Amino acid sequence: MSFLFSRVNPIQTMADGTIKQINPFSGTEVWTVPGRGHRPLDHPARDTLPITPGERENYCAFCSARLDETPPEKARVIRHGENDFEIVEKPSFAEIDGTEAEFRRVSNLFEIVSYAYWQANYGFEMNAAQRSWMQQYQSDPRGIDHILRMVKTKRQAAGLDPELPSQILVKEAESFFGGGHDLIIGRRHFSDHAHDHTGLASAGSLSVVEHRAFIQFTIHTMQDLYSNNRYTPYVAVFQNWLKPAGASFDHLHKQLVSIDERGLAAENEVAKLRQNPNMYNEWAVNYAAMRNLVIAENEHAICFAGFGHRYPTLEVYSKSPTPEPWLQTPAEVASMSDLIHACHAAVGPHVPSNEEWHHKPIDLDIPMPWRVMIKWRVSTLAGFEGGTKVYLNTLSPWDVRDRVVSSMFQLRDSNSISSDIRIATECTIERNSLKYNRLLPL
Ligand SMILES: [Zn+2]
Repeated sequence: MSFLFSRVNPIQTMADGTIKQINPFSGTEVWTVPGRGHRPLDHPARDTLPITPGERENYCAFCSARLDETPPEKARVIRHGENDFEIVEKPSFAEIDGTEAEFRRVSNLFEIVSYAYWQANYGFEMNAAQRSWMQQYQSDPRGIDHILRMVKTKRQAAGLDPELPSQILVKEAESFFGGGHDLIIGRRHFSDHAHDHTGLASAGSLSVVEHRAFIQFTIHTMQDLYSNNRYTPYVAVFQNWLKPAGASFDHLHKQLVSIDERGLAAENEVAKLRQNPNMYNEWAVNYAAMRNLVIAENEHAICFAGFGHRYPTLEVYSKSPTPEPWLQTPAEVASMSDLIHACHAAVGPHVPSNEEWHHKPIDLDIPMPWRVMIKWRVSTLAGFEGGTKVYLNTLSPWDVRDRVVSSMFQLRDSNSISSDIRIATECTIERNSLKYNRLLPL
């Protein structure tokens, strides 16, 4: 199937019911074979042990009673009231001890793109504010003890000798202060109403306002990472939920990684965007609307069941004319947050997923919309795929839509997701609803 054809019709249903899909942006080919779509998404075998006293705060290294098992806090979000959150930058030990963090930003102990990479390849160094914070942290006995222990932990995990002179360890700890791979860690391991280990605090189990604070903090971090490193054209943002999706702990966290290129897939997508500046309307949202795949919508965002993805995927697009998430209005960001939250809530905490953010690389001259893909990491058949490069996806886009729509109605009735979300047939489905394309009237 040629790409040209796929532009016209990315989804084809065969006479027997097989659904063939081609992703209009990546070219990924996916088939959904009939009769496989009604199986449960999550695995029934789970840890049903009761939560014992203390476990809510100390179950894993990301938990709130084990703050010294993650690198120094770059920032935290504290809560003053129901909808009143504040970001505290580089909190002092007094602030760490005296406040409760709803979300914390720390360097990833095991960086994908390391501080040493930036130093060796670009001559990059941390900025003056970061250096001054590092020096202040090192000058406190509690601070120096913390970072020495963290470096030793990191070296041990990598099979390296941890017992080196402290000046070498301190040098290695510079990555905690100047690195570009950060985690945003949620407060809870288990949700407040959970009684056993199945009650994990997923993104969907946060309240609507907590999830907005989570997204705002992530965007704030993204902007900070761009401003800290002039060599980075792109900050990748993602959330791996549960171990089958690549998470090291079943504790809610997002990751942000500064990288020194846009990536091949993004370059290919940009080339297509130059040919058709309206492609995210035509090939994504408008097409999804024509095929009745729109799941939900609110004032500034829209969500549909994706097509041509290796895993069942929900796609959430910002309608904002502003591509950069950090330049969008709070209302625009809240709309995105509310739909992402509703998607996570709709599938529940037991389905492994990857949440992938896509946004305009900072050096790209043409606009594209901020969009977020939520991929359910349910099983596929690998042998067939290895030989053909055709992926088998057990759920068709319509199967995905139906599961999510019915769940969202229930969640909205119980006030577990934003009441402003329009679902399924309630959506207005305006043509060209994404306003990033400046040729369109606002
Ligand atoms: Zn935990």
